[in-house]
Amino acid sequence: MRIGQGYDVHRLEPGRPLVLAGVKISHDRGPLAHSDGDVLLHAICDALLGAAGLGDIGLCFPDSDQAYRGISSRLLLQRVAEMLRVEGFELVNLDATVIAEAPKLSPYRSEMEANIAADLKTGPGQINIKATTTEGLGFTGDNSGIAAQAICLIQRAGFDPTSLASPL
Ligand code: MG
Repeated sequence: MRIGQGYDVHRLEPGRPLVLAGVKISHDRGPLAHSDGDVLLHAICDALLGAAGLGDIGLCFPDSDQAYRGISSRLLLQRVAEMLRVEGFELVNLDATVIAEAPKLSPYRSEMEANIAADLKTGPGQINIKATTTEGLGFTGDNSGIAAQAICLIQRAGFDPTSLASPL
């Protein structure tokens, strides 16, 4: 099994749409970004690519390439999932945290998890999304930015971890 982690930050500007895991979030500001600025999916893509030893999102989808201007990050996540399948990996589980002072994300949680599970072609039970504030501290605390962290475990497709158990 292999572990991977991802971290992403975007600056927030008033009047821009906020999209997290492909879900349009009701808020008065959103990210300034080359793509749709989906900070959660960017952190998840980096965690998956890192676990597979495939570099990072900037390497795979360079922001100098006009093909990725305004692209839905769900398409990037679907491509990352395909890259892992080609390498013979499958997801064990994925856990991620959005760090933002506002808005409250709990109403969107199940829809975000369902989108991620669909893009990764996995069950919603393997995906967990959390949210936290930084108690008013720093760039997330003053609403000038949003951050996300993700961690995942992957394994060779078809690998049975119980096969490692030694008989006592
Ligand atoms: Mg990003």
